[in-house]
Amino acid sequence: MSRPTKTYVPSPEWIVLDWHHACIETDALCIQQCDKCGRWRHPPRRCCPDCFSDSYEFRPVAGTGSVRSLAVSHRSLDPGWNERAPYAVLLVELDEGPSVLAATDLCPAEIEIGQPVDLTTERRSDDFSLVWANPR
Ligand SMILES: [Zn+2]
Repeated sequence: MSRPTKTYVPSPEWIVLDWHHACIETDALCIQQCDKCGRWRHPPRRCCPDCFSDSYEFRPVAGTGSVRSLAVSHRSLDPGWNERAPYAVLLVELDEGPSVLAATDLCPAEIEIGQPVDLTTERRSDDFSLVWANPR
């Protein structure tokens, strides 16, 4: 099954937009990391929940993790995604700790909790990059 190309593209704002720009500029999955204590955090936020520092950078991560949870969509309002139904959206726990949402080509019936996956990003606009989970 080919990946949908003509789908709705969100327009992220504020710090989430900064995250998308970091992924686009590096062509890799980036995650926010605290400059003071080193904690990785996602979704992005202004202050570190551990040390309250507001100093951070978005840095590339290994792009490896495991399936923590999933939701299966049997239909979508977006025609581009509806062609793929049923499809799964994954919550992937990165090896660095945080979890991210990811689209996948994996068949929903074949996905197992704990399954290792590799993550890549796909630029969809100047301001949005979609995260994909691929089987390892
Ligand atoms: Zn910190």
